Amino acid sequence: MNFPCIRCGLCCKTLRNVSAAAELRGENGVCKHLEGNLCGIYANRPLACNVEQMYLQYFKDFMSEDEFIKMNLKSCMNIALLHGAQDIANFFRKRLQDNRQVPY
Ligand code: SF4
Ligand code: SF4
Repeated sequence: MNFPCIRCGLCCKTLRNVSAAAELRGENGVCKHLEGNLCGIYANRPLACNVEQMYLQYFKDFMSEDEFIKMNLKSCMNIALLHGAQDIANFFRKRLQDNRQVPY
């Protein structure tokens, strides 16, 4: 899977109300493993942080890779809006509007 993560780190800064992320949550809802905008435990990150593995383990029987990527892109866009990062939200909105097939 080629998920077009732009490494903005915003999803890792939005754990305040995510009960499943209680073990990851540091100050102000930011993951305690975030280093700059990158994951400090990337190779061993939790399943919920691994788009490809989430797809293979839970979603592949219900939707295509392309649908799953688009669903996650919408989440990235909404997280960016939550943070007031309009430029990043626009970046993802454009990709969704273009409705391109993978790779994006
Ligand atoms: S919000 Fe999306 S683009 Fe940004 S780091 Fe998270 S997965 Fe990547
Ligand atoms: S474990 Fe890594 S990928 Fe998951 S929220 Fe923390 S910094 Fe982000």
